[in-house]
Amino acid sequence: MDYMIGADIGTTSTKSVLYDMNGKVIAYANKGYQLYQDTPDMAEEDPEDIFDAVVEVLGQVMRKGNVKPGELKGVSFSSAMHSLILMDENDKPMTRAITWADNRAAKYSEELKENGLGQEIYLKTGTPIHPMAPLSKMLWLKNEKPDLYNKAKKFIDLKTYVFFRLFGVYQMEYSIASATGMFNIFDLKWEKQALDLLEIDESRLPKLVEPTDSIKGINANYGELLGIQQDVPFVFGASDGVLSNLGVNAIDPGVVAVTIGTSGAVRVVVDKPVVDPNGRLFCYALTKDKWVVGGPVNNGGIVFRWVRDQLFGPEKITAEQMQVSSYDILTQIAEKIPAGSDGLLFHPYLGGKRAPIWNAYARGSFFGLTRQHTRAHMVRSALEGIVYNLYMVMLMIEGVAGKPKSIQATGGFARSSLWRQMLADIFEQDVTIPESFESSCLGADVLGMYSLGYIDDLSEVKNMVGVTNVHHPDENNFEVYRELLPIWIRLSKVLAPEYKSIAEFQKKHMKEHQEK
Ligand code: ADP
Repeated sequence: MDYMIGADIGTTSTKSVLYDMNGKVIAYANKGYQLYQDTPDMAEEDPEDIFDAVVEVLGQVMRKGNVKPGELKGVSFSSAMHSLILMDENDKPMTRAITWADNRAAKYSEELKENGLGQEIYLKTGTPIHPMAPLSKMLWLKNEKPDLYNKAKKFIDLKTYVFFRLFGVYQMEYSIASATGMFNIFDLKWEKQALDLLEIDESRLPKLVEPTDSIKGINANYGELLGIQQDVPFVFGASDGVLSNLGVNAIDPGVVAVTIGTSGAVRVVVDKPVVDPNGRLFCYALTKDKWVVGGPVNNGGIVFRWVRDQLFGPEKITAEQMQVSSYDILTQIAEKIPAGSDGLLFHPYLGGKRAPIWNAYARGSFFGLTRQHTRAHMVRSALEGIVYNLYMVMLMIEGVAGKPKSIQATGGFARSSLWRQMLADIFEQDVTIPESFESSCLGADVLGMYSLGYIDDLSEVKNMVGVTNVHHPDENNFEVYRELLPIWIRLSKVLAPEYKSIAEFQKKHMKEHQEK
């Protein structure tokens, strides 16, 4: 038998899947690690924990699959974006890995936005100006921890660290690089304007390679430990977001990947890099000629969780006693309300500020309440509001990448047929739910097979991804949504100027409240 491994270095755990050459799952392993949050805006991980997890999960799938010498054809990697590790003269980490969720660089990304430099850099790098990006993080360290910053020999990310430990080289592929905020997506080089701002030269960044490039000669100790021979190629791979598009078979033009898990995202593949004139969309590399344009949304399923916890406490307790999903009970309640929630509109900006509005002060709201509206209307309108918001991201993507043709949707929301149908009705597109298991690992596997010549085209993925559900837009519903969507969008604009005033009020009074 011949095998490939697709591994994904995620924010909370590293996963590894052993596949046969048809993409069938043979073995799986997963190892989690601690997120360090000493302060509310900090989110760090220990690079050693991550490296140990990678070694552990690779070893586990080799053993579980009983892989013999010569049978493993390659290993290919996915990884979370935006992490930053500073390495010292002796090639040891001087910091933990600062992850995308770390917010300590907020002041510096705000400054970049306000002075206009951020937009100039965004137009070349395709990474929205945000504290998540290494560009902002490095500005923060340069200003607030200059000793550390000046001493650092290299600024790298988690995947580069793992490859360094296994192969002794500092190499970063275009996909992870394209999410740093320092990589020019049009000429595929480090962006001089960003480097000048950071006062560093290229020698302090990893060498750039293509996602499809590979390297052989694994460190002998680890090779022995893992049972992986020196001649097995390790493909650099790409980031988890773009590989998830590949892993759910959303790589053809117009096929949109929509995710609603705790957060959410809308992403589509285009054949050359594009940027949004307003800086609201990302553009990250999958390969040199496939790019993923999209928007990350903070307010996804987590908002539904809030509705459940705050408005349906008794139902939650009953569900727990009956050992059924409380979400299922809530969606059954919502199902009794007609599409459009009898004109109750909900803006889901309960926390975090990313696509579509990227406004730090945004707050949630119900609009259109009458005495006829009930809690059941509120839950339906919240589910609809989460989808309207994703639709707004879709409209922005349409502006740079053309009309959508169909949707491949994933995430916890897909457990609800009501919510899946809502997505089809609001987007007015067919929605397919792929049978996805660790889609970023599968994406890494397929990219790896393509890189090493085992498949001719990435579209082969279609033979490896099953389908669980398909939904078609229902005319009775989409006509209602067509009426409501323009109101919902206009309302976002009407509310926007007041977000800051209410956020400041809350900051002042809610803090006092906490201190009492
Ligand atoms: P994560 O994004 O953290 O990996 P999931 O993809 O499992 O998590 O998504 C979790 C979200 O999915 C929950 O917050 C909830 O909004 C939604 N969800 C989970 N189960 C259901 C269900 N049965 N019906 C509707 N929504 C659900």
